[in-house]
Amino acid sequence: MKSKENLQAASLSSPLTQPRHDMHNQWPRAESVDDFRENLAAVKLRIEAACQRSGRSADEVRLLPVSKTMDAAHIRLACAAGCTELGENKVQEAWRKAQSLADISGLRWSVIGHLQSNKAKLVAKFASEFQALDSLHVAEVLDRRLHTESRALDVFVQVNTSCEPSKYGLPAEDVDAFMRQIKTYENLRVRGLMTLAEFTSDAGRVRACCKRLRQLRDELSESHGAMALSMGMSGDFEIAIEEGATVVRVGQAIFGARLRPDGFYWPG
Ligand SMILES: *Cc1c(COP(=O)(O)O)cnc(C)c1O
Repeated sequence: MKSKENLQAASLSSPLTQPRHDMHNQWPRAESVDDFRENLAAVKLRIEAACQRSGRSADEVRLLPVSKTMDAAHIRLACAAGCTELGENKVQEAWRKAQSLADISGLRWSVIGHLQSNKAKLVAKFASEFQALDSLHVAEVLDRRLHTESRALDVFVQVNTSCEPSKYGLPAEDVDAFMRQIKTYENLRVRGLMTLAEFTSDAGRVRACCKRLRQLRDELSESHGAMALSMGMSGDFEIAIEEGATVVRVGQAIFGARLRPDGFYWPG
């Protein structure tokens, strides 16, 4: 029911898709496997509709469920409903959960938030992916620690596309040189670019951030090859998909509203 409304709202607003930040911190909490199934189905419908509008195939888009602030019990329900990978913004929180959910086989953890080099050691132990790489020093420490663990890590370079000084991520013009430098780190596998679009109900500004990331990817593809584009979250992933996202990071539309304010996770 909810999902049909979502789909309708999504297709009615085409081609001027609006962000859904009106729902921010208001998504109902998922408390059962069925709730999670329903939410996942609704998100997938929204993904399919956005793909249809932009002439893309839905299997070009990977849905990364974001479980930050959610406890292990809720994450278990999400896994029972079909989640096989989870995004977490803070490393120590992710590590604690990875340990208490270690019995779920094949579960993959993606660290999507800013990382201090003193915590790179922990990422190297358990994460499959790190999406917020924006520092050479962190890359170097990660590579060294991964070597010790005999592990490799998929990484995304975070780009600041909104030009807000408080946000993490490299300025677009620095990404080419940065990518050339991190190529020497054998245990880092560069998979793509990641951004947080400006958090605003102004669709044009959200879209502009997404376009910037895609444009950068296109420019860099000649020297760096094919790259994934991680952009879009609960409130804006349709716009991101219309602009070429191949990974969307969705928390609240799957798990429900977070109780902790976003300022705890995002600077500024
Ligand atoms: C929390 C978070 C998301 C998901 O946000 P939702 O509003 O819960 O969908 C996406 N990306 C990053 C980097 C995050 O920290």
